[in-house]
Parts: sequence; structure tokens; C-alpha cells
Amino acid sequence: MNEYENKVILITGAGSGIGRATALLFAHHRSQVIVSDRDEVSGFETVNKIKEMGGKASFFKCDISNEKEVQELITKTIKDFDQLDYAFNNAGIEGTPAPTNECTSENWNKTISVNLTGLWLCMKYELQEMLKYKRGNIVNCSSIAGLVGFENIPAYVASKHGIIGLTKTAAIENAKNGIRINAICPGTIQTPMLSRFTKGDEQSMAKDVPMGRIGKPEEIAEAVLWLCSDKSSYMTGQAMAVDGGWTCH
Ligand code: NAP
Repeated sequence: MNEYENKVILITGAGSGIGRATALLFAHHRSQVIVSDRDEVSGFETVNKIKEMGGKASFFKCDISNEKEVQELITKTIKDFDQLDYAFNNAGIEGTPAPTNECTSENWNKTISVNLTGLWLCMKYELQEMLKYKRGNIVNCSSIAGLVGFENIPAYVASKHGIIGLTKTAAIENAKNGIRINAICPGTIQTPMLSRFTKGDEQSMAKDVPMGRIGKPEEIAEAVLWLCSDKSSYMTGQAMAVDGGWTCH
């Protein structure tokens, strides 16, 4: 029996990209996976992939920017699975590219409401459950855009920096409660989000990466798996870049 076996992990945005790869990896390690996404079709696709490999998964629909839906997601998780061991707060949007002086209030508010407020709502209700048993492990999805600035995506950059501040705060609050909380900061990763952002020319990003290539969602999933394991037992409140060396520049 490995340490992930029969553990319950909740993954938001698990219908696509990094979230899906992480769901498949935890299922491979025999965790029970709650695949959550605002999109039902892609969410069920992930669940079916897990079931085809003999794993255990359920789909729970949730728009993380809606507090009532987040509350219901956690309530349903506990009702159906009795426990919540790990959470990967991964769902996010890139917003509409525009420089700071042209960013609309609509784009700003939407990006912040999903990426920052939505992630905080997930953590709030996950923590309320984890605190009952004084154990748990949360990984928040930030970005290299949470560590440095990027032109033309001011709301995205602000939201991803905010996630790191939120992660540090919740980590300190819960360091003596048996709950570890870290952030992961992916570099450029081959997912539908990167395809939209680069208008289908993802490989154009490779030249800026010291390793000379963009990353795979599975490489982020492996880092999330490690952050949830006892192998990272002395680590909390950290923002870990997995970026082919991008932030070493
Ligand atoms: P993705 O392929 O677009 O997947 C994101 C998933 O989140 C989609 O299924 C999306 O559904 C869902 N989602 C969006 N808004 C949601 C909401 N309000 N409630 C619930 N689910 C929602 O993107 P990805 O690249 O895998 O990104 C995953 C995370 O990694 C994001 O937080 C992103 O910022 C971060 N990240 C990505 C990269 C990269 O290069 N790919 C780099 C750094 C950080 P829809 O399809 O309906 O929108």
C-alpha cells in the first residue's frame, strides 16, 4: 500500500490540462479523485479516463467563483467520501490580454474573481474540514507569473502573486494544525490555456526557457504529488517553480 492509496483528493479545473494530468496521476497511485470543473463534458471525460484505468473518481460540477457552489462542493465531498486528505486548487483563467492602461474592469474583476477569490473560497471551506481532523495537504496553483511580472496580463499576474501571499498566510495559520499549504508555480506548460494564449504557437515560448522546451502537464502533476507526500513533510508556505529554469534568468 502506498501513501496515496484510498486518500481523497479534490482537484478543481480537473477537466483539462494540468488538473486532468494531476487527476490521472493520483488515480494511478490509487487515490480517490474528485474531479471538479465548471465544464461538465470535460470533467466527465477525465472521470472516464480514470475509470478506464481501473481508478476511482467522481465528477462534481463547481464554478469556484461562486461561494455557494464551493460550499456545496465541499459538503458533497464529505457526504460521499467522509474525508478530504488533499486539495489541488488548480482552476484558473488567463483573462483577456491587454496592457495595464487598457485592461477593462470587466476583465480585471473576472480574472481576480476566479483566480484569487475563487481559490481563497476553496481553501476556506477545505480548511474548515481539514481542521476537524487536524490533517491535510493543500497545493495552490500559482504561476511563474506569481513570481515575476509579465506584460499584457496585469490581472493574471496580480492574481497569481496574490495566491502566493494567501498561501503563505494560510500556511502560517495552520502550521501547528497538521495542515501544510504550498503553491506551485508552473512555467509554460502545453495545455489548452497555453494554446489560447499563444494563438496555437506554443513552441514560440520554448526559446525563453533555459531547458529549451515547454513543459508537460504531467511534469507539474509529479510535483503536486510530491508536495502532497510525506517526502515534503518539512515544507509549508512555499512557492515552488517548476519551469525549466525560466525564473533563473
Ligand atoms: P486549462 O487547460 O484552461 O484548464 C483549466 C481548467 O479550469 C479548465 O477545465 C477550465 O474550464 C477550468 N476553469 C476555469 N474557470 C473555472 C471556474 N471558475 N471554476 C471551475 N473551473 C474553472 O489551463 P491549464 O493550463 O491546465 O491551467 C491550470 C492552472 O495552471 C491555472 O490556474 C493556470 O493559471 C495555471 N498555469 C498554467 C500555465 C500554463 O502554461 N499552462 C502556467 C502557469 C500556471 P473551461 O475550459 O470551461 O474554462
